[in-house]
Amino acid sequence: MKAPICEVCLKTDDILCPADEKKLQEGTISELDVKVARLLYKLIGDADMEFKKAVEAGDLVVIMVGEGDVPIAIGKGGKNIKALMRELGKRIRVIEAVDINSTEDLKKLATDLLYPAGVFGVNIVYKPSGGHYYKVLILSRDRKKLPEKPQLLEDILSQIAGTEVRITFL
Ligand SMILES: [Zn+2]
Repeated sequence: MKAPICEVCLKTDDILCPADEKKLQEGTISELDVKVARLLYKLIGDADMEFKKAVEAGDLVVIMVGEGDVPIAIGKGGKNIKALMRELGKRIRVIEAVDINSTEDLKKLATDLLYPAGVFGVNIVYKPSGGHYYKVLILSRDRKKLPEKPQLLEDILSQIAGTEVRITFL
């Protein structure tokens, strides 16, 4: 399993090696990344998959994995998800990681995360004060299909994108 921490650190519950400790101090990785990487490694071991990052908001943890790696991460009948829920005491979603560089990238991420609600479009809005945010457009009739409260989804999307994301209903 590939992870943002090294193999030695994956295999212990102890302190991190100096290189990984530095990543944590610099904020390249978070405490949650370390925790989820180690838990996943216990469940999945050396299977061919990549854990990239985890973010949390409210009682939801979103785990991002490499392309095509969602089924391995979830496990047969969702057994890994169930184990992670027990360990973390939170609900778990697993999605494919996306690097957010454009509205198209954000649309792919939002489509995954907001399913079964459909994403009508994504706009980039430039603020008069400088900076920008992404506006994810959802049809009002899809509001009830959102898997979580809009605020929680905005929080998760913003963390993954590294830029503010707002959900707007049309
Ligand atoms: Zn390490």
